[in-house]
Amino acid sequence: MIARRAILIELPKDKCDVEYIRRLMALTNLAYRNYEVWVSDMLKNIQYQLYDSFKNYMESLALGTVPKRWFVRAWVPLKVLRVYGDGSMKGNRNAPVVLDFRSNIIRLRQVCKNEPGYSIELPMPKWVIGRVNEGGDIKFAMIGLKDDKPCLTLVAERKAIPYKPSGYMLVIDVNAWENGIAWGLIKNGVIIKWKPERPNLREVDNLYNLSVRLSKKYGKLKRLGLDKTKEGKRLRKKIRKLRKRLYAKLRDYAQKLVHRLVRKALRHKALVIIDDMLEESRRELLEEKIPSSLKKLYLAYTRRFVRLLITQLEWYGVPYDFKRLPSTVCPICERSLTQLPGRIMACENCGFKAPRDKVPMYWAMKLWVLLVLTDETKQ
Ligand SMILES: [Zn+2]
Repeated sequence: MIARRAILIELPKDKCDVEYIRRLMALTNLAYRNYEVWVSDMLKNIQYQLYDSFKNYMESLALGTVPKRWFVRAWVPLKVLRVYGDGSMKGNRNAPVVLDFRSNIIRLRQVCKNEPGYSIELPMPKWVIGRVNEGGDIKFAMIGLKDDKPCLTLVAERKAIPYKPSGYMLVIDVNAWENGIAWGLIKNGVIIKWKPERPNLREVDNLYNLSVRLSKKYGKLKRLGLDKTKEGKRLRKKIRKLRKRLYAKLRDYAQKLVHRLVRKALRHKALVIIDDMLEESRRELLEEKIPSSLKKLYLAYTRRFVRLLITQLEWYGVPYDFKRLPSTVCPICERSLTQLPGRIMACENCGFKAPRDKVPMYWAMKLWVLLVLTDETKQ
């Protein structure tokens, strides 16, 4: 199986012609629809690269989705030349993107400005070196605008063969951020470790509330026509900064948690079982009294966490599966559980009792037995 991971790199704005990149994106949209449009005032070689990339990388292009509408901006696929430390090379010599591992520099040729011979250099991100050391290869890149900022995406590919799981199972129960994520390690059908994880919600809430308060204040200024004043501009800047910090916090948390869980799975050669109960969480979130945009934010980051987790599990060849592991149904007698204070779930029928986040682990134990049994009948 081919596993892929990507990184987004912001390009120096002063060295890029945003309008030019926008035009390249428009041509890319046409190329997606099998139109080859040759524009007279653009460099021939870059247009040739563009259409050639489409012929060569159709498979990899599954990464970027085909734009749904005409003239919607599409990221521009680019070929990549890799020059390794020993001087050996891979890829097209005329590729617009050069990864030079001799001096750890990325060179972009003719894609940032419509000027013959124009090129810029960027330092090689550690991420690239890490992926290459893991046996990955970067055959393909994309350039485009994200929030009107010029960016480069590098896509690493690796042939990953999933390992045969040992007796371990790592269960990851994805709630909405609200209630965090719970994981459990099961060895030969017994829960040997279990832990609910959650970000520092108070900090997130505080940042969020402050940004809402300031936004209201800014709205007032705007209605009075005072948003362009010094105070108004300062306020707007402050709001933007707060939001950035908030997103960065959630993103950072998701990334670190994924990293930790993937390491854990690799260490034990565990089979990973994921319960992604987004629908249930959504309902649960709606019942609680959190402002709706904060809810949306939590849900967005929950999804992001799952996406990130899958990408990395695939990259490292960790076998995984999605399974529903209910936290409101008794794992012993399968009756409905009653929630007691402190998120404790209890069964009135058989007396089963466990913290809500731990109930899915009991379901996973059952699953483990089932898996072993089917495995034995197979042999
Ligand atoms: Zn029961």
